[in-house]
Amino acid sequence: MADQPRALVTGGAGFLGSHLCERLLAEGYAVVCMDNLITGSVGNIEHLFGREGFVFVKHDVTNYIHVAGRLDVILHFASPASPIDYLQLPIQTLKVGSLGTHKALGLAKAKGARFLLASTSEVYGDPQIHPQPESYWGNVNPVGPRGVYDEAKRFAEALTMAYHRFHDVDTRIVRIFNTYGPRMRAGDGRVVPTFITQALDGKPLTVFGDGSQTRSFCHVDDLVEGIWRLLNSEYSDPMNIGNPAEMTVLQFAEEIVRITGAGSEITFEPLPEDDPKVRQPDITLARKVLGWEPRVSLEEGLARTILYFEELRRRQA
Ligand code: UDP
Repeated sequence: MADQPRALVTGGAGFLGSHLCERLLAEGYAVVCMDNLITGSVGNIEHLFGREGFVFVKHDVTNYIHVAGRLDVILHFASPASPIDYLQLPIQTLKVGSLGTHKALGLAKAKGARFLLASTSEVYGDPQIHPQPESYWGNVNPVGPRGVYDEAKRFAEALTMAYHRFHDVDTRIVRIFNTYGPRMRAGDGRVVPTFITQALDGKPLTVFGDGSQTRSFCHVDDLVEGIWRLLNSEYSDPMNIGNPAEMTVLQFAEEIVRITGAGSEITFEPLPEDDPKVRQPDITLARKVLGWEPRVSLEEGLARTILYFEELRRRQA
């Protein structure tokens, strides 16, 4: 189809990237999925191979990106995204947020494509304003262990706004809060896959610190809907997308034990350095501009995610 729109998703074989590839295909886009497979995996996209208009390109976007033909949108999702991953890959994390974003923006400029940056609630650091509105500038430790991710994403936002203002590139910035769902990597160290895996193994759930720190968890289907609406909006300043339903990590552990019916105990381990004490998105803007809000309850979303991990284990067994 000559008039079929075409998208590039960097990090397309990752957790969020793979869901976005699916959504774009469903919306009639041809999709170029690009990933260097450091933290992404072919298993996340193998069901898309053979789908008309879908291609996978193994490439590290910190190097010059070549894509022949038209591109209408670029969704820049390449980056390690779990604290364990970016602590183990600090230089790659800084490079993909800086050099990778530069290459992806350069491509957007050359193709006249709309560009959407995957940013993060981590730009708010350990926040002193709660919940966090987009107008808050954040409280980030640039030289702490999480600085490699936080500062890379803050730089990526600055670069995106510079391309928008100086080169007139049509840009969007989504600040993604904790998101969970199928295709998270079991060993990525994030709280959702970790607790679910521990519960399914009948092992203790490892709560860090006293578990009083809070997070607000959004199901991936809600996130993808929010991103889709933002992409199609005319809004070019950063926008929070996340679920404002906040809970402590200890409450979350108890919820996982209850839903899985596991007999697991809860144990306490040291809190990682600079672990934010609270986090909750203010989604007033997304409600107003996109008419968006999350629909999937934690109960339902977790049930679906647990099912995914159970099926994965059956296949691997
Ligand atoms: N956490 C925990 N046990 C784990 C993994 C994480 O208590 O096994 C805590 C972590 O310290 C943080 C919260 O759960 O307070 C969310 O951690 P995650 O790694 O998912 O992402 P973050 O929100 O910190 O970026």
